[in-house]
Amino acid sequence: MLIIKDIDELKRARASMEGSVGFVPTMGALHPGHLSLIQRAKKENERVIVSIFVNPTQFLEGEDLEKYPKKEEADLKICKHAGVDVVFMPDAMMMYAKDEMSIIAPQVRGYLLEGEKRPGHFDGVLRVVLKLLNLTRPWKAYFGKKDAQQLALIQSMVQDYFLDTVIVPCDIVRDSDGLALSSRNVYLSGEEKTQALSLSRSLRIATKMISSGERNIKTIRDAMIDELSQYIKIDYVAIVDRKFQNIEQIIIGDTIILVAGFVGATRLIDNIQV
Ligand code: AMP
Repeated sequence: MLIIKDIDELKRARASMEGSVGFVPTMGALHPGHLSLIQRAKKENERVIVSIFVNPTQFLEGEDLEKYPKKEEADLKICKHAGVDVVFMPDAMMMYAKDEMSIIAPQVRGYLLEGEKRPGHFDGVLRVVLKLLNLTRPWKAYFGKKDAQQLALIQSMVQDYFLDTVIVPCDIVRDSDGLALSSRNVYLSGEEKTQALSLSRSLRIATKMISSGERNIKTIRDAMIDELSQYIKIDYVAIVDRKFQNIEQIIIGDTIILVAGFVGATRLIDNIQV
């Protein structure tokens, strides 16, 4: 496994790669959620590149950029064990130039829900993903449904900018209690972890109501808020279609239910597609 920190070196390594290349971008502190993406990439491609880069442009002022968990040694072990060919771990300085061209997320879809709570976050995500896709030129790139809005915006970018990569959405990996795995879960104390379970529980409440025939958005949202508000500081509870547009009623096969909130100082998100 090659560990590459330099952009020119990555370009050379990529140029010498034959066959299909799968790419998995991450911010490191790898967990089984990331691993599921890597394993899928491994299955579907002859070569796999993983990037580990805590991208500064997607963090807002006051967010956890400085203390974002770093586990370089363990991450490299996981990648090696999974059969990754190249791990790209650039320095922030290398990835950005002063006063460079930018890419801005769509003014509506990029600035609602996560984009409204974290204005500019998706601009940073799209900037880095575009750079990484240009550097790695993958046949397929793997993204988790955990970051549903991010995934939808990346799919749009690929379409709008005529990129050749196929974006592969991957299912959310959860722990046995239902908590969606996230690098940020390491911030949670034991008690906070119990409180955090209300996120996935609220989504289960919603899906149960829907399976029993409930279609009214307000009724479902109210039940979720009832559950969540006992444990977390809610940022949003949203029920939208898969294009992130408001809907009047649940449409089976085209609805996504999203929650975000603070457990103590830690901000967590989760969602489910119905
Ligand atoms: P991150 O390192 O948090 O930027 O995540 C890198 C990729 O892993 C993104 O595409 C995430 O959506 C995906 N990911 C993170 N957590 C999970 C999870 N629990 N299940 C599936 N994919 C995930």
